[in-house]
Amino acid sequence: MSAAGSTDFPHAVASIIASGDELVLGQKLDTNSQCIADRLVSHGLQVREHVTVPDDQAALVEALRRAAATSQLVIVTGGLGPTADDLTRQALAELLGENLVMDEDALRTLEGWFTSRGRTMPPGNRVQAMRPASARMLTNEHGTAPGLHAVCEGRCDLYCLPGPPREMIPLLEREVMGHLRVAPALACRTQAIHTFGRGESDVAALLADLMDRARHPLVGTTASLGVVSVRIRASGPSAEALIAQTAAEVRRRLGPVVLDGEHLAAEVITRLRAAGRTVGTVESCTGGMLGQFITEVPGASDVFAGGLVTYANEQKVALAGVPKHILDREGAVSRACAVAMAEGGRERLGTDHALSITGIAGPDGGTPGKPVGTVWIALASGGAPTDARRFLFRGSRSAIRTWSGMSALAMLRLRLIGADMRLLNQQE
Ligand code: ATP
Ligand code: MG
Repeated sequence: MSAAGSTDFPHAVASIIASGDELVLGQKLDTNSQCIADRLVSHGLQVREHVTVPDDQAALVEALRRAAATSQLVIVTGGLGPTADDLTRQALAELLGENLVMDEDALRTLEGWFTSRGRTMPPGNRVQAMRPASARMLTNEHGTAPGLHAVCEGRCDLYCLPGPPREMIPLLEREVMGHLRVAPALACRTQAIHTFGRGESDVAALLADLMDRARHPLVGTTASLGVVSVRIRASGPSAEALIAQTAAEVRRRLGPVVLDGEHLAAEVITRLRAAGRTVGTVESCTGGMLGQFITEVPGASDVFAGGLVTYANEQKVALAGVPKHILDREGAVSRACAVAMAEGGRERLGTDHALSITGIAGPDGGTPGKPVGTVWIALASGGAPTDARRFLFRGSRSAIRTWSGMSALAMLRLRLIGADMRLLNQQE
C-alpha cells in the first residue's frame, strides 16, 4: 500500500487498534478503545471493530492492513515510546511501504522537552522524532511521543496516538475529532433507553420483532446491575427519524419501567423534589447501601432525611420501633418486619416516604423456606397502605445487596409515577 495526497473522502467506518503486550496479557485494561469508540459513535461514525495486538511488528502491520482495507478512519494507540517494544511507527512505515525519516522540527521539540526539564535527551529517544516519509507529526504537549497521521491509498486516514490515556485523549480531541468528515448520508446514530424492573429476557420478548438482526434500525439490549438498556442504531439520511419512531414503539411496549435517564436514584430524587416530598431508609442486609445510592446523587439533601442501619434485631426494635413479637414470631426476614421497619422509620425520621430492606444476602444463613437471596422490601408512604414485596435475588452477596437497593428505589419510583408495583420482577 502507498500513501497518496487525497484528503477529502468522507469518514463512515472506523477501526480501533490497541497495541501492547500488557493489554493482550490481561495485565492492563484497554480503556483507550472504549473512549475512542464512544467519541466516534457520538459523532455518527460506525465503529467496525476493536483489535488488540501485542508489541509485535508483524501483528501490527497485519491489523493495520486489515483495518485500512475496510475503514476510512483507523486509530492506533500505544507503541510510540522509545523502547524496543514500541513498534507502531515502524509498522506504519512498513504498511505504507516507506522509510522512516527524521523530522527536524519534531527532533527540536523533543530536545526542547528534555532541556526544559534540565535533562539531556537519551539517544534512544531520537526514534520518537522519526516518521514514515509521507506522514506528519502530531505534537504531544503531555509527553515525549508525538502522534502520527498518514493517508493510506487516498482513502483511509491512519492516526497513531500515544498509549497513556492522559496523552492520548488531548491528541484525539485536537487532531482527530476536529477533523472528522462524516457525510450526513453515511452518519450512524444511536439512542439508549434504560429500564429497571423487568428482566432482560422479558424486555427482549416484548421487543422480539424489533430485535430482528435484519431490521433497520437495529435494536439490542444490554443489562448491568438490573438496569436493562435498549440500544437503537440507525444510519443514513433519515436515521434520526427512524430512531425516533422505533424509540416511541419501544417506550410504548415497555411502559412504566422505562427510566427518564440512566440513573434510577437520580430520577427518584428529581421526582421527589418536584413533588416536594422526602424519603428516609431503614436498612438491614444492605447496611446503608440504599442510603449510599441516594446520597451519591448531588443535591440528595433536598429530599433525603437520613437512614437507620438496623442490622441486629435489637436495633430494629430500638431504632425503628419494630415490635419484638414480630421478630420472635415471624423472624427478621418477613413481610411483617419489613412493614414495621418502614412504618417505624417513617415516623421516627419524619419523612413522607420510608423504604426498608431486610433479607438474607448470604452466602450463609439460608433455609429451605427462606433461601439466600430472599429479601423483603417495604415502602411506607402517608395516606397509602404500606407496600411490601418479597424478592428472590440470585448471585453473590454483593449482587444481592445491590439488587436490593436498586429494587427499593424502583418501588419508590413506581409509586411516585402512580404505576403498579407488580411490574417489578420479584424472582430475579
Ligand atoms: P510511552 O512509551 O512514551 O509512554 P507509548 O505510546 O509507547 O508511550 P505504551 O508504552 O504502549 O505507550 O503505553 C504507555 C502506558 O499507557 C502504559 O502504562 C500502558 O499500560 C498505557 N496504555 C497503553 N495502551 C493503553 C490502552 N489501550 N488503554 C489504557 N492504557 C493504555
Ligand atoms: Mg506499549
